[in-house]
Amino acid sequence: MFTDAHHRIVDYVRLSVTDRCNLRCTYCMPEDMRFVHKKELLTDNEIISLLETLAAGGITKVRITGGEPFLRPGLLSLLKKITGIPGIQEVAITTNGVLTQPHIPALQQLGITNINLSLDTLQADRFFRITRRDRFSTVMQTLENLLQYNMQVKINVVVMEDVNTDELTAFAELTRANALSVRFIEEMPFNGQGHTFSGIAWNYHKILDTIRTAYALQKIPDAPHSTSLNYSIRGHKGNVGVIPAYSRTFCGTCNRIRISATGSIKTCLYGNNVLNIRDLMRDNEDPSLWLHAIQSAIHGRFADGFEAAQHHTARNMESMSVIGG
Ligand code: SAM
Ligand code: SF4
Repeated sequence: MFTDAHHRIVDYVRLSVTDRCNLRCTYCMPEDMRFVHKKELLTDNEIISLLETLAAGGITKVRITGGEPFLRPGLLSLLKKITGIPGIQEVAITTNGVLTQPHIPALQQLGITNINLSLDTLQADRFFRITRRDRFSTVMQTLENLLQYNMQVKINVVVMEDVNTDELTAFAELTRANALSVRFIEEMPFNGQGHTFSGIAWNYHKILDTIRTAYALQKIPDAPHSTSLNYSIRGHKGNVGVIPAYSRTFCGTCNRIRISATGSIKTCLYGNNVLNIRDLMRDNEDPSLWLHAIQSAIHGRFADGFEAAQHHTARNMESMSVIGG
């Protein structure tokens, strides 16, 4: 079992399968984002061997992310192999919804029903301003189809001052007729554009207070290790949540690590890359060595995201698409 020095068990990995993206969300990456050469990416075989090793160490849940995961050629066959790895009990995906729709039946057949869809506005013109791409109607069509297929949909909304804060209640209204979860995420400084921030105008308290002006929120139990605080609204089929991604209130129960598309491991989103597992795998074929290296990286994890940030040697300018959001 993977454990850190603070007695937290790690059983969840967020694995990026590509750094490439077909959107250019302003809060995530610059317009002229540079992507790595394909040979830098973990291959399918490397991903499978790595996940087998992680599963042997106690990882039971994998979230596939990116960049945009559906841009990776052969993603579905990779997913099929991942779902077959002994010990992996749940595979989930985070996607922007642009290329997702045709794959929904296949995902369902693979038992991949937990889909996080990133959508920061319900207005087409604003979608273009945020993502720098004109794909709003496609993403909305994907949302509709996901719901038709009874997928467990969570909409991720990054809350940005002067951009979409006037839409919080419109998003909450989506949960009236639809059995989905809308999760409002505090904006983080991982935008690949070099500017960090010392505070945010919209923290989770302000987000909740704003939603409360329109709805009475009832606290509901959060799943173990959940990063979101969740609420129901009377008469609504779905629910809403806030993710204090910048306030970092959930570090005490953190059970996750992140692996980038090039094999960099982060044991905390706010910290340094602590190991490049791709390089180790390419240098040495012994999985017990990989396992040992990962365990010792996890063991050295800081107590929380504030401590990790203090020890972060690079400035907080990485893009979430590189880290693997
Ligand atoms: N391309 C996919 C998508 O957008 O769903 C997966 C990768 S994306 C990096 C994963 C998640 O990170 C998205 O929900 C996105 O909104 C979130 N994200 C990216 N940059 C962020 C930032 N600066 N602050 C908070 N969340 C961010
Ligand atoms: Fe692409 Fe997702 Fe980043 Fe938007 S948030 S630019 S969709 S990786």
